[in-house]
Amino acid sequence: MNDQNDAVFIIYTGGTIGSLPKDKMDPDSPLVPQPLDVVMEMLPTYNKRDKNIIIGKKIIRLGFYSWETPIDSSNIKLTDWIEIAKIIKANYSSYDGFVVLHGTDTLAYTSSALSFILDNLSKPVVITGAQKPIGEARSDAVQNLITSIEIAAARTMGNEVVGEVCVFFRDELYRGCRTSKLSASSYSAFNSPNFPALGIAGEHIVINEKYVKKQQIVHSLQVSEKLEPNIASMDIFPGMSSVLLNNMLNTESLRGVVLQTFGTGNAPSTFEFLDAIKKAVENNRMIVDVTQCRSGEVELGLYDVSAGLLSRGVISGMDMTPEAALTKMFVILGKETDIEKAKDLMQLNLRGEQRQSIFNLHFPGNEFSDDSTSVCIQPIRPMVHGSDRYNPSFLDKAILRIMGIKIQNMKRGNVDIAVFIDLPDANEQTKQEGNPHFIGRKMKSWTSGGDSESIFFDVTKQVKEFVDNRHENSLTIVNMGGFPFQWDLTNIAFFADC
Ligand code: ASP
Repeated sequence: MNDQNDAVFIIYTGGTIGSLPKDKMDPDSPLVPQPLDVVMEMLPTYNKRDKNIIIGKKIIRLGFYSWETPIDSSNIKLTDWIEIAKIIKANYSSYDGFVVLHGTDTLAYTSSALSFILDNLSKPVVITGAQKPIGEARSDAVQNLITSIEIAAARTMGNEVVGEVCVFFRDELYRGCRTSKLSASSYSAFNSPNFPALGIAGEHIVINEKYVKKQQIVHSLQVSEKLEPNIASMDIFPGMSSVLLNNMLNTESLRGVVLQTFGTGNAPSTFEFLDAIKKAVENNRMIVDVTQCRSGEVELGLYDVSAGLLSRGVISGMDMTPEAALTKMFVILGKETDIEKAKDLMQLNLRGEQRQSIFNLHFPGNEFSDDSTSVCIQPIRPMVHGSDRYNPSFLDKAILRIMGIKIQNMKRGNVDIAVFIDLPDANEQTKQEGNPHFIGRKMKSWTSGGDSESIFFDVTKQVKEFVDNRHENSLTIVNMGGFPFQWDLTNIAFFADC
């Protein structure tokens, strides 16, 4: 009665779900993971001989892979994620979906990592675990496991197929790269703070089609096998020593850091703090800013205390969970050796892990000497993946950033600039009002304390029709104030729903 595909493949890694007290005679002895057989035999409708399970009126064929020594998930390693992904790939064509049994402690890291490691996934990969071992009277394991099998077998069961890595726990299904463990003991241990649940499992399993990623099966499943291990995650806190920060950020082999900051991405703006960041960026390290708040997102440049991070090369993690940011970085830095391209790639929404993509068009800095009034600059390189991903019709907002402005030989900074796009010869006399190439004018004054300044402006309407990443663009900056100044970096960030 079963064809080749109406089946679910279970991968068992260990965790509480399959653990029992070490000493069978002493229920208080520490829990240790048991073999998969022990777990499966506790499922009420599991048929060991035929290797299937009855759910409703359907018989679901099961395939298995168990780690030789199941582990507590605190011991999970990068190579374990690759192993799970390779097993999924090896069994991909023979099964409807996959269930990964995992300890809850690092489950959200694994679900995030698999989301990025598996490329072109179109079948369900459901990760689950339990707060109490399967053998215990009040265990949540049976419900979590059976519901996960049912979600993974959606095609057979006639339900909506969730073709992505997800987490099922208690009664909710979440996107894998949006999930965090929020409670150490609640049966509802997981949540997806910045994205709605993909489904609810009450008496019936209801999948919210609107939020499930639409899968197009155009390419075959790929596994990113190379991960960059030299990555760190750091929480900032009031009173953090900048000497310590400097030492940590400038550790010899370090290639990237997820910096967990305050609120909308804010951090101390002292010279020492920002200097430590600047050095790390100059030494080719990627620093991604995510919020240490449970929900919400980073908005670099909203406050002065985050503008400094941006102008020193820190990139926005938008509304990513720290787990998603970290594992995305493992994969991207494992793949991309050009750090600047890797930074641009990191800002794209690859798996629904962040609300929007930020496409960057970087231009160099320049300077106005006493006798120059306008300069024309060209992009340093095209947008990463932009030609096939960026589409102006999905543009939400575009922000022009002129960063690291320094005034020369003056006490007070007084900058007045007008910016034109694709009009190389623009100058002070060029018509601004009503000119489609004119994208904005800004004045800024500040007292020179040796620190640099940045100017940001919203240019959404103005650049929308000019930038499609198929034509070379240019920016002409006109110095309307006449005072000499220089700046380090120019960038247009395109926030787009694609
Ligand atoms: N320490 C266990 C683990 O993560 C906790 C659990 O599974 O709930 O493996």
